[in-house]
Amino acid sequence: MNKIVEEIRVLLSSPQNIVITHHYNADADALGSSLALFHYLVSRGHKCSVVSPNSMPDFLQWMPAAYKVLKFDDQKNEVVKAIDKAKIIFCLDFNNFSRTKGLAPYLQKSSAKKILIDHHLNPEKTFDIGISKPSKSSTCEIIYDLINDLDDNGMIHIDIAQCLYAGAMTDTGNFRFSNTTSSVHLMVADLIKKGLNPSLVSQAIFDNYQENRLRFLGYILTDKMLLFPEYHSAIIAVSQEELNRYKINNGETEGIVNYPLSIKNIIFSAFISERDNEIRMSFRSKGDFNVNLFARNYFNGGGHLNASGGRSEESIADTIKNIKEALIDNKKILKQCYLDLQ
Ligand code: 5GP
Ligand code: MN
Repeated sequence: MNKIVEEIRVLLSSPQNIVITHHYNADADALGSSLALFHYLVSRGHKCSVVSPNSMPDFLQWMPAAYKVLKFDDQKNEVVKAIDKAKIIFCLDFNNFSRTKGLAPYLQKSSAKKILIDHHLNPEKTFDIGISKPSKSSTCEIIYDLINDLDDNGMIHIDIAQCLYAGAMTDTGNFRFSNTTSSVHLMVADLIKKGLNPSLVSQAIFDNYQENRLRFLGYILTDKMLLFPEYHSAIIAVSQEELNRYKINNGETEGIVNYPLSIKNIIFSAFISERDNEIRMSFRSKGDFNVNLFARNYFNGGGHLNASGGRSEESIADTIKNIKEALIDNKKILKQCYLDLQ
């Protein structure tokens, strides 16, 4: 018997006040895993609130019960009340409290049992109970495993299935990235048997943009993509003015970082965007080039082997310069990783 699962089984054996939270700028895995767990716990008779550090992008609003999510940035009182009442806080899809930004101090000082469920590398050791599985495709898959380990596979209904599928589909890049395991495919097979329609979830996420987002994509791929063939790398940087010009909302730049990786010789891609006086960076790679280490070593960030992110305090121009310098530092490794893929 897995000791952690047994501990969770005992904690959930009587009705509890529970908060479920996830990282800032929730993606489909953060929100999908939270709502899947929410539906499961509510079905088991618990009182549950999902708390998000900030508002979610429009393309995630379709998720069953998304409208119930409390947002710290505009419902601070409700969020603080929910945390005060909570006996258990599930922390999903992040490994370090700072990833929840303004919510972090409230979570940290709460006396609730804090349970981490996550698949990022290098988790902080400040959680009471930790399920950290970097080998898993997504936090959604770990939630699925947990429900199974609690002997409740039969409780997985269509709403849970849609949420779990959304996170697994997006975190594996539509089942293309190196985290696409047999276990995630087995999960999907089971969800389909339970009535999931994968194409409906895919359409809800990927075919729901306005015209401006596609025009923006055309613009940046034509005019803004910098290629550095000598480092097998690409950088795209967009300013606040450009985001405003194309009316690009928070979350709508998601996935753009992957496009340069479709070029044969490119194995590293960086996407830099400026929003609210902050520079955010997304890194992606193919093969063995470790962008978790890259983000940690140079930009105080982190993530996974092939997908990571970080922040920069400097201007866009200086940030590009810093990335270029980091690429120069990594020139030999980049070359080797590129050759290993040939
Ligand atoms: P994205 O580029 O999609 O925002 O993030 C890629 C991955 O890296 C995600 O799994 C995300 O959780 C992680 N990540 C993004 N930014 C940071 C950061 O600043 N610190 C850490 N530790 N992880 C990050
Ligand atoms: Mn994730």
